[in-house]
Amino acid sequence: MKPNSTQNGFDYDVVVVGGGPAGSTAATLLAQYGHTVLLLESDRHPRFHIGESMLPFSEPIIQRLGIDWSAGNQSKSGAVFIDEATAQRMYFPLSIHRKTYQIERGPFDQLLFENATKHGVQTHQQEKVLDVSCQPDGVDIVSDKGQYRCRYLVDATGRSALTGRKGKAIKRIENLGKFAVYSHFENIQPGDEADELFRTGNIYVPVVDIGWIWIIPLAGRRLSVGLVVQKERPKDCDAEELLRRYLLASPLLHRLLDGAEQYAPVRIEADFSYTNQSRYGSRYACCGDAAGFLDPVFSSGVFLAFTSAARVADRVHQGLVQGREADPELHTEDDEAYLLGFNTMRLFVERFYQSNIVHNLFFEADRDPDLKAQIAQLLAGDLWVDNNTLQQRLLAGRRTVN
Ligand SMILES: Cc1cc2nc3c(=O)[nH]c(=O)nc-3n(C[C@H](O)[C@H](O)[C@H](O)COP(=O)(O)OP(=O)(O)OC[C@H]3O[C@@H](n4cnc5c(N)ncnc54)[C@H](O)[C@@H]3O)c2cc1C
Repeated sequence: MKPNSTQNGFDYDVVVVGGGPAGSTAATLLAQYGHTVLLLESDRHPRFHIGESMLPFSEPIIQRLGIDWSAGNQSKSGAVFIDEATAQRMYFPLSIHRKTYQIERGPFDQLLFENATKHGVQTHQQEKVLDVSCQPDGVDIVSDKGQYRCRYLVDATGRSALTGRKGKAIKRIENLGKFAVYSHFENIQPGDEADELFRTGNIYVPVVDIGWIWIIPLAGRRLSVGLVVQKERPKDCDAEELLRRYLLASPLLHRLLDGAEQYAPVRIEADFSYTNQSRYGSRYACCGDAAGFLDPVFSSGVFLAFTSAARVADRVHQGLVQGREADPELHTEDDEAYLLGFNTMRLFVERFYQSNIVHNLFFEADRDPDLKAQIAQLLAGDLWVDNNTLQQRLLAGRRTVN
């Protein structure tokens, strides 16, 4: 349904494509500024999505959205990196000044989407955008249910990356994780290790020779577990077999899952890290995974989705007010800020795979409290600062940071 009145031939000020965390955030903030916004989502909420471990520095955006992200979710203290072969472990506290949670994405993304409706966004589900065309005088959008014309387009289509793939601007980042295999378990039995996990809400990240494992405690004594593998998916085994062959090789996971029940299918996701070389242009901007995607070892995805969406929304508002929406340079300054965050995480992830940062730096961090605090600062998402020398060294492109 279109709004009753159209202005200058536009149905809406902004159309946001994709109703995940990035799209719902951008749409809500733009509606808060008073713009008319249409949010189109091809799926129907609650839909399954992987990516449950949140970072505390998302909290300021959560507050702007006016939602309660604690409801029904497991609070998270920090991150524990583990090498089971050597029994080394390192805990980084993350929720010192700001709180964060391990969340189930189905209900959480639904909450964000419904929050957009509450703020006056026109929301359509099960409507897939097929094509967009950004012209100097407006944007035309064609979906499987209709056509719209608007002043500005926000592409928040996640890893489908609608405009990036259309413009052949998606560039793969090589040599990080290549695919993930994961599932969910419930009825986790009592025991010291399991009780500690659910008391702290920590994410456990055991590192293994072929990649890394995530163990994420969810509300209701459930676990999300998965493995990101740094080699091509073997052709000779199905998803269940992959899970058994790789993931259950972790003794820690074996103990935690003893007596538990698998309640979700084993899923596989490939098509890993990339950048979008055309993140913005005349009358459009991308946010969240549509702007770029990183191997999730440091749980940065939803945090980058929130922060990039908020930045895009604030700038689009300014552009619309000033009549600068066709200016292809509208987002240039913000893109530098986006890249500071994205590249910090990217370099951190690359060090994880290429220079074994967990063994060489994380496990040694107790010897240097400043360094430990700097690592925790990065892992918490506190990226737009000028006092983190580890971040500065990463960005300065030093080959090793230990
Ligand atoms: C294995 C794995 C583990 C991860 N773990 C974590 C983690 O622990 N913590 C974390 O923060 N992140 C994690 N992530 C990343 C996280 O899932 C994403 O970064 C996050 O979902 C990005 O949000 P988004 O809104 O940009 O995209 P999405 O959440 O993917 O939302 C995009 C939406 O757009 C819709 N859409 C797509 N195309 C169209 C179209 N043409 N028309 C209409 N709608 C469309 C889709 O249906 C979808 O709902 C993980 C990712 C993977 C693959």
